[in-house]
Amino acid sequence: MLPRNLSKRVRIMGSQALNLVDVDSSLAAKSPLEIIGYALREFDNIAISFSGAEDVVLIDMACRIRKDIEVFSLDTGRLHPETYRFIDRVREHYGIAIELMMPEAAAVEALVREKGLFSFYRDDHKECCGVRKINPLRRKLATLDAWITGQRRDQSPNTRAEIPVIQDDKAFARAGGTLTKFNPLSNWTSQQVWDYIRGNNVPYNELHDRGFISIGCEPCTRPVGPGQHEREGRWWWEEATKKECGLHAVNIES
Ligand code: SF4
Repeated sequence: MLPRNLSKRVRIMGSQALNLVDVDSSLAAKSPLEIIGYALREFDNIAISFSGAEDVVLIDMACRIRKDIEVFSLDTGRLHPETYRFIDRVREHYGIAIELMMPEAAAVEALVREKGLFSFYRDDHKECCGVRKINPLRRKLATLDAWITGQRRDQSPNTRAEIPVIQDDKAFARAGGTLTKFNPLSNWTSQQVWDYIRGNNVPYNELHDRGFISIGCEPCTRPVGPGQHEREGRWWWEEATKKECGLHAVNIES
């Protein structure tokens, strides 16, 4: 358990005034289930961000604590059919609502009209990710006090190696407010995630059985071979240091 006064400070003061280093060191040794439990206790206005991949373990753990969890996912319009099927399967399996955040039609139409459907192969992925991911995410996070993500340190040696369990997410906090970000799987390896999925009969995206490890949009994701890092299957035409879509902008800033 966290020290009671620390726990109370989180509730009363919010992440802006917290020493998040203290909180992180208190939570760092906890299990993902304990971290999620802590987050759900301390914040009422909190949601899980579900990518449609192995971060389904967050939903499984949260549902063990309480059923009325809020979950959202970014529907870029470019996901694999398998991912859409998986999102719906998760909805049915856990009996939960999953809010799909979609890009603004006018912004997508303008981008496609000007640059076509595959501009990210020529320019880079930032503009398309901005329209299809970042703006809808910003719209959602503006309604929340805290969010829970499936980020892990082992997902990217370039951008995620230092991810703490709890962060003050200045990149997406609404004006004048604070936003706390929990990364309960931060210290887990891919192996631990898959041991959990298999050991608990957790549903998973069928693309994982076809060599996909990190799963995003269909045109920007491909399977990886033995010995390749999972991030090599994402935006493979770009440098490794650019392989973030901006959802976790605090990683780049820090
Ligand atoms: S991952 Fe690719 S298709 Fe998806 S939003 Fe980013 S650039 Fe666009």
